[in-house]
Amino acid sequence: MSDLWIGTSWKMTKTLAEARAWAEGLRDHLAGSAPAGVQPFVIPSFTATTAVAEVLGEESPILLGVQNAHWEDAGAWTGEVSVAQAKDAGARIVEIGHSERREHFGESVETTGLKVAAALRHGLVPLLCIGESAAVKEEGGSSAFILEQTRGALEGLTGEELSRVVIAYEPIWAIGETGRPATVEELVEPFAALGEVYAGRVAGLLYGGSVNLDNAADLLGIEHVSGLFVGRTAWRLEGYLELLRIAEDHAAARTG
Ligand code: PEP
Repeated sequence: MSDLWIGTSWKMTKTLAEARAWAEGLRDHLAGSAPAGVQPFVIPSFTATTAVAEVLGEESPILLGVQNAHWEDAGAWTGEVSVAQAKDAGARIVEIGHSERREHFGESVETTGLKVAAALRHGLVPLLCIGESAAVKEEGGSSAFILEQTRGALEGLTGEELSRVVIAYEPIWAIGETGRPATVEELVEPFAALGEVYAGRVAGLLYGGSVNLDNAADLLGIEHVSGLFVGRTAWRLEGYLELLRIAEDHAAARTG
């Protein structure tokens, strides 16, 4: 059975000093090896990528990521950072298509597809974020919507390429300060729909959105969920360490 992915994106938070302190705490806690059955990852702001990479070190079991990257390797794209540059700075994961980037920065199915392809070309893990709005959910269209977002970004990939992709289902109505935590019952159907097409074909099917220390174990128990992508709860190192412990327990129980 593959490892449970437990990761956090810091969005636009943390100074360099705060980023270093969090990474040092995690590095020292793990002492060179990930919890059994768990793949940890952390996605800081661009400014902290190199600092966190230096703290974690090259042999770290913690995968480092960036929150976005351009599909071209270099060129006249002011304000952008390429996958090649992210890799050079130590990144091994690229977050693609978070709903905030789709809403505020024009990220589309087309651009998410280009970015997935760029990440794969450079050997980084594309972490494709998908998720529907409250309005789509109210109309009963959640599963069709997220399947279309996913298919659009991943079409044309070979089986081998697909096997390196991680998908994070993050319903917009469930994420951030204004989100409300999803119930397990609400997530069963979307994960069944995703699982029917992608289970066993991608590297992971993650859930994200108001994950906290009280609901994490239940969320990991949903069929086809193979990890958690976490914001606020993991920004405090203690919260992230507790999530790793919950996942380790869950992984141990899965393998009997
Ligand atoms: C997110 O915004 O993608 C997210 C998962 O955040 P939170 O866990 O804080 O809801």
